[in-house]
Amino acid sequence: MRSLVYRTAWLIDTNQPFTREAAICKLFGSEVCSRVTDKALQIYGALGYSRHMPLERAFRDARISEIFEGTNEIQRIVIAANIFQEHGVRIRP
Ligand SMILES: Cc1cc2nc3c(=O)[nH]c(=O)nc-3n(C[C@H](O)[C@H](O)[C@H](O)COP(=O)(O)OP(=O)(O)OC[C@H]3O[C@@H](n4cnc5c(N)ncnc54)[C@H](O)[C@@H]3O)c2cc1C
Repeated sequence: MRSLVYRTAWLIDTNQPFTREAAICKLFGSEVCSRVTDKALQIYGALGYSRHMPLERAFRDARISEIFEGTNEIQRIVIAANIFQEHGVRIRP
């Protein structure tokens, strides 16, 4: 994840196209975050689901990151369209 972010930041800093890499960062980062907080909640058991635990907030925040600022389905479409475009094929989402 870190190397993805660094590569995307480098593309931005060097004025190169970064749409696909940014979409990959958002997609992969949010899914990793969801997976990690889901596992953490499982370890904590019911306590992790309680509003008294910071984990509950982290779990919700991770999940919503798969939805806002472009849902992960849309990120996949952006990535796919970008790859097709690179090979001279235009797709309409
Ligand atoms: C806490 C929070 C903060 C937010 N902040 C902002 C903000 O600051 N500014 C702002 O503009 N918006 C904001 N939003 C809105 C957010 O960006 C939208 O919720 C998000 O874009 C998804 O839109 P939607 O909820 O209308 O879902 P819909 O567009 O109705 O989509 C529903 C589901 O269908 C899927 N879907 C839709 N179209 C396709 C397709 N073509 N192919 C495959 N799957 C598809 C989506 O991926 C999603 O899973 C916020 C939302 C939340 C919950």
